[in-house]
Amino acid sequence: MQKYLYIFLFILLLPLNAFCVSAGEQNTYESEKGQAVIGPPDSETGADENGDAEAGSSGVDWEAANTAASPAGNGGFTVVIDPGHQGSWVDMSAQEPMAPGSSQTKAKATSGTQGLYSGVPEYEVNLQVALVLQDELNARGYRVIMTRTDNDTAISNKERAELATSEKADITVRIHANGSDDTSASGTLTMAPTSANTYLDADIIEKSGTLASCIVNHFSTATGLKNLGVISADDMTGTNWSTVPVAILEMGFMSNQNDDLYITNTANHAVMAQSIADGIDEYFSIVEPQAVAAMALEAEKEEAEKTGDTETEEEEKTTSQEASDKKNAEQPSRPAVPPTPAP
Ligand SMILES: [Zn+2]
Repeated sequence: MQKYLYIFLFILLLPLNAFCVSAGEQNTYESEKGQAVIGPPDSETGADENGDAEAGSSGVDWEAANTAASPAGNGGFTVVIDPGHQGSWVDMSAQEPMAPGSSQTKAKATSGTQGLYSGVPEYEVNLQVALVLQDELNARGYRVIMTRTDNDTAISNKERAELATSEKADITVRIHANGSDDTSASGTLTMAPTSANTYLDADIIEKSGTLASCIVNHFSTATGLKNLGVISADDMTGTNWSTVPVAILEMGFMSNQNDDLYITNTANHAVMAQSIADGIDEYFSIVEPQAVAAMALEAEKEEAEKTGDTETEEEEKTTSQEASDKKNAEQPSRPAVPPTPAP
């Protein structure tokens, strides 16, 4: 009977998805205001992105690094986590095209900003949070691919996007922290491509906006850091080369005392990672509701097997089909939040 309760709870929670979307729309407005006040995100100051085509030179065994801890065969989605930047000693100054077919180039990667109060480099806190997020997503049944698991790896922003393509990822979440000359600038924001982006197709742009909205809302609520909403970003190499929905999370401003000391405090990293995972859960419940329902049933089945539930395989299958039918009947596809218009 437990599984019916689970399905019922899932259906009950569906209206919350609509809240996520509407909250994102509101925040988009705030973010545009916020952007004017807080100045450009670190990416625009050149602190945002980075990597190196000679990934092999880093000696990283991607297969081993990325799949060892991932549960297999549970039908979960594949999430690429991209901890922004890398160690300052890794030379990523060579240029690469900012987008497919673009004559504009940017450095393969930069080393990011640094905590004005904590002294912690951005690449370090990005990686710390990303590794906790990796565990959290694995525990929730996702297949997780990391673009890097140490600070020595040389992988360019373009290559990070290409990794998501080759791994057939469902989404990419890029973990960053912000910086500003104005120490009063604070808060969390996400960045997503807009409809003006000619390098990405409309479906990816729309889904990226939904992903960005879900993550920023959950992260802000859980951490108490100000919600600056979704910011337009069409000049990010790692986004423009993406073939899957992608969002950049700027966790907070490392130039602001409260934000810096909060995000670099490892005691907060579990809450931060859980909230990002909650945002990812919500994203999939919006864009892939039937697959999420199937995953929930699968998890329920595994739980039942562990606890010695004696229901037969046939009963489980019937229930799964019923749930699928019910979802088809009750849950028409939801419109995703539209991307932030370019200011
Ligand atoms: Zn960054």
